[in-house]
Amino acid sequence: MNIPDNYKVIFVQGGASLVFAGVPMNLMKKGKAAYIITGQWAKKAYQEAQKYGEAIEVASSADKTFSYIPDCSDLDIPEDADYVYICENNTIYGTKFKTLPNTKGHILVSDVSSCFLSEPVDVTKYGVIYGGVQKNVGPAGLVISIIREDLITDDVPSYTPTMLKWKTQADKDSLYNTPNCYAIYICGKVFKWLLANGGLEAAKQRNEEKAAILYNFLDQSKLFKGTVEPNSRSLMNVPFVTGDADLDAKFVAESKAAGLENLKGHRTVGGMRASIYNAMPKAGVETLVSFMEDFEKKNLK
Ligand SMILES: *Cc1c(COP(=O)(O)O)cnc(C)c1O
Repeated sequence: MNIPDNYKVIFVQGGASLVFAGVPMNLMKKGKAAYIITGQWAKKAYQEAQKYGEAIEVASSADKTFSYIPDCSDLDIPEDADYVYICENNTIYGTKFKTLPNTKGHILVSDVSSCFLSEPVDVTKYGVIYGGVQKNVGPAGLVISIIREDLITDDVPSYTPTMLKWKTQADKDSLYNTPNCYAIYICGKVFKWLLANGGLEAAKQRNEEKAAILYNFLDQSKLFKGTVEPNSRSLMNVPFVTGDADLDAKFVAESKAAGLENLKGHRTVGGMRASIYNAMPKAGVETLVSFMEDFEKKNLK
């Protein structure tokens, strides 16, 4: 990730959901933060932050079931906001920020749980990048946070749990308490594999190639349709529908019977969702698309 020297990387437990609380505790010095609501995970983070200060929604795509990333080039961000928060890849809705928001000089905090290590990133653009590792990197429960050093301080509310204060973890090299050794060990294997296989440039190429197979099929299909605006499409999560809930259910059941797992969409969107994370090989996407072609032939009226 070409992480500059003035950033610390910490490995902590509790999942991304615990960081939803850690972010405001560590960063809300003036008690205010701007949240961009692009889906369930951003909303959960926003709701959690409200417990600790004033979290302000500065943009949202809720009006169209989170099927796009709002224009964030000129948002009304309060001058005294401590940070601007985004969920960079929206796991459930299948959208991804292609350009980062204009934070107008404020610190950018990004949840990258579902796009971690999927493509190169310019770490210098962020104050904090964090993610649960279970989508792209390793077993559930572990979070990797990449935090600019000047944001790691003792200046946190007195109620902040010791474990949630970034300085506790940074000062002890993530060994303040017993670390999740097994998860860290597996992440290490993934890091080594990525480095030996072309790094993040190559990961991006693989992921673009995989996603294109599915999106190209969806764009010409007469039965299936992608639910996301083309310029907001995620490389990792691809939701699609037939437009008929019964047919969607039939597809989910028949694909499962054919050995294609976890294609049911999130209950708030319905339909289907293919999560094609780093570990999904191209052959897996090809198998899905040929199953979809078959299903289309049999079910198109
Ligand atoms: C999965 C996910 C989470 C939740 O992660 P946990 O480790 O289960 O708390 C948060 N944010 C995003 C974007 C996710 O995809």
